[in-house]
Amino acid sequence: MKIIFTLISCFSFLFSTAQDIDHIINVQEAKRIETILSSDKMQGRKAFTSSIDSAASFIASEFKKSGLKYFDGLTGYLQTFSMLKATLISASGNMDGRSIDTNHIIAITTNEELKFDENDDYTTVAINNGDDLFREAYNLLKENKKYLVLVNNSHSKNFSRLKMFNTENFATRAPVVFVLTDEKPSTYHFEIKNKITSSSLANVVGVLPGKSRKNEYVIFSAHYDHLGIGQPDEKGDSIYNGANDDASGTTAVLMLAKYFSELNNNERTLVFVTFTAEEVGGFGSQYFSKQISADSVVAMFNIEMIGTESKWGSNSAYITGYDKSDFGKILQSNLEGSNFHFEPDPYPQQNLFYRSDNATLAALGVPAHTISTSKMDNEPNYHKQSDEISTLDMKNMAEIIKSIAISSKTIVSGKDTPGRVKSR
Ligand SMILES: [Zn+2]
Repeated sequence: MKIIFTLISCFSFLFSTAQDIDHIINVQEAKRIETILSSDKMQGRKAFTSSIDSAASFIASEFKKSGLKYFDGLTGYLQTFSMLKATLISASGNMDGRSIDTNHIIAITTNEELKFDENDDYTTVAINNGDDLFREAYNLLKENKKYLVLVNNSHSKNFSRLKMFNTENFATRAPVVFVLTDEKPSTYHFEIKNKITSSSLANVVGVLPGKSRKNEYVIFSAHYDHLGIGQPDEKGDSIYNGANDDASGTTAVLMLAKYFSELNNNERTLVFVTFTAEEVGGFGSQYFSKQISADSVVAMFNIEMIGTESKWGSNSAYITGYDKSDFGKILQSNLEGSNFHFEPDPYPQQNLFYRSDNATLAALGVPAHTISTSKMDNEPNYHKQSDEISTLDMKNMAEIIKSIAISSKTIVSGKDTPGRVKSR
């Protein structure tokens, strides 16, 4: 009798573990969340518009249902921050005593007033004939240092397009001033006046504190913003629903939050975050990454576009920057015996590792990787109005989410710690 009882309870234990995950992570639940996030009511979840607020409050309500705690220093699930945008009032300048045409000065800044000369701490650099203007400009801006950039006249046709960098910026943006000139001045003086407007954005963050290793964080993330409303396509559809990009990843984050909350055995602290403003510059993840100590982040699972089959078919996904840490190998070893497989990113030329929300923390050494199935060379609804739930393979998506949950097991428990990513 006792033996039989042990056998039965043993079987039922095995059975119930397998069932537990299916009972929390399943296709019905994936559909429920994905349907809401990608519905026309959400109006394409565009950052800097009010339409993204309803997506944020839906995500917050799901975090609440899962019993998540607030992130350090917050009094709710919204991590709100503001971005500044400058509108030019006037720009004047001279170099070696000769005045410069206003149209030949473009300042990327969040300062109301910029006034500087050769005695200030601006570094002078040149973009020469034959250089890639936009790449050089982009790289300089990324450094966040004060630059006076002398742009060779051969770029005169495209010079005014540098204004595109004067979108919303963080208040900490160091000014970069581009001047169209062939001169290398020894003295100069510039004065630029702007009107500054501020607008607010919000990530949505929830936390499951670790049972023992409270100061070791594991992040599960996705971006919840998309492209909003645009021109109608041939079917008259003007809403960019972003069902795959990235309501699918957001759905995964919400389901993982619920799963780990019900398991209630995570030794490390789990942080669930959905980022805003990925589509317009990655501002959400950049802000978030500055509110957490990179040294305390053990791993980041960023999930981006998992709604369609990968190039290998169902039950597979790729990991960006696979060879930059042993994160992928750990995930795969936790999946031993299943038919799911993770692969290295098959589109290395697209530089995906440095293009998504994992990039800021990865640059600081965190094994922060993006998990995706998106066929970057063949995804017909990518950034189109037709990125709708009807084009997604929801069954496969639920399997991917389940596999992420299972594959993260030893990182969540503290048994495995992926190696750090070497900074570039
Ligand atoms: Zn996108």
